[in-house]
Amino acid sequence: MVHATVDFKIEKNENRGCYYEETDRCLIYLPMHETLADVLKTITHELLHYIFANNDDIPTMDEDQEEKVIFFTQWAEIGL
Ligand SMILES: [Zn+2]
Repeated sequence: MVHATVDFKIEKNENRGCYYEETDRCLIYLPMHETLADVLKTITHELLHYIFANNDDIPTMDEDQEEKVIFFTQWAEIGL
């Protein structure tokens, strides 16, 4: 069984977070967020990348497709 880890950095980055597929590690850059809700949203975002990478039932997607699915998933309630 594969497990994801979530790491935090207290330094600025051009990204709010990233997912490293080779180590199943999500890295969250805390200074790039304004609220705790924002941080939780980024953690969810990166964990969705992990789930997509490690679930054979989910069709293979390229990075652009993954970003779109995550965007629609996370902002769906506002669009309704
Ligand atoms: Zn992403």
